[in-house]
Amino acid sequence: VPELPEVETLRADLEREVVGQGVVAASATGLRTFRRYGLPPGGGACLAGRSVLAVERRGKYLVVRLSGPLVVVVHLGMSGQLRAVEADAPPIAHTHAAVSLTSGRQVRFVDPRTFGEIFVSAGDAPDGVPLELAHLGPDPLSAGFGRAELAGLLAARRTRLKPLLLDQRVVAGIGNLYADEVLWAARLAPDRPAGSLGVAAVARLHQSLREVLGAAIAYRGSSLADAQYRDLAGRVGGYQARHAAYGREGQPCQRCGRAIRRRHADGRSTFYCTRCQR
Ligand SMILES: [Zn+2]
Repeated sequence: VPELPEVETLRADLEREVVGQGVVAASATGLRTFRRYGLPPGGGACLAGRSVLAVERRGKYLVVRLSGPLVVVVHLGMSGQLRAVEADAPPIAHTHAAVSLTSGRQVRFVDPRTFGEIFVSAGDAPDGVPLELAHLGPDPLSAGFGRAELAGLLAARRTRLKPLLLDQRVVAGIGNLYADEVLWAARLAPDRPAGSLGVAAVARLHQSLREVLGAAIAYRGSSLADAQYRDLAGRVGGYQARHAAYGREGQPCQRCGRAIRRRHADGRSTFYCTRCQR
């Protein structure tokens, strides 16, 4: 499932590919992709003739701004991919939408499991579309996200650290994989109550958020065994080889040597070290 590092990698790729380009044509064939807010009036034709101004990221969402103004929001869901190819390249299976650019290139939304979604909204404020964008918490890599901000989010909460990190309304962009990696790096147990962290532990968590997510972006994200995450050129990421906790059940902790444990709860697995994560 793409999380902040994978979506940020795609954002940077997409920015280089599409900003400054004009839209020649657009098509939308996968109606499930548009299931919640429907196709824009006029369908894909409403994008034609517009130019692409910017590609932004909010949590796990991509926000593409076009002249008009018009905003296209893309959420990759479980298995969604964006792929840039020459406009006359062979079809890619499970393509649900495509945008042809003045460069002669085409960006395709490919999604075998159709959990991904696209929203198109007139105007320049994407916050209403979809609604959950308006409720996203701060981005852990934003300049304004300091130790004090993190301490404020944790203070007086009884929620355990892992579900708190997964709550997009508290902090945006983290999913199951990076929550485990960040908590391992911070030497914090996933079920530790958020409000129980002292100053030093908050500082470790803040530093780990920055370092783990930053390194994962530098390695262009994680592609797991299903290899479903691909960048805009269709290449897998490189961070999966550097995971310290996620997917390492039974292997020795790289810090203390005890076997990494896997626990199932709430329909997901948590990987952690019972010795050095407290
Ligand atoms: Zn350990």
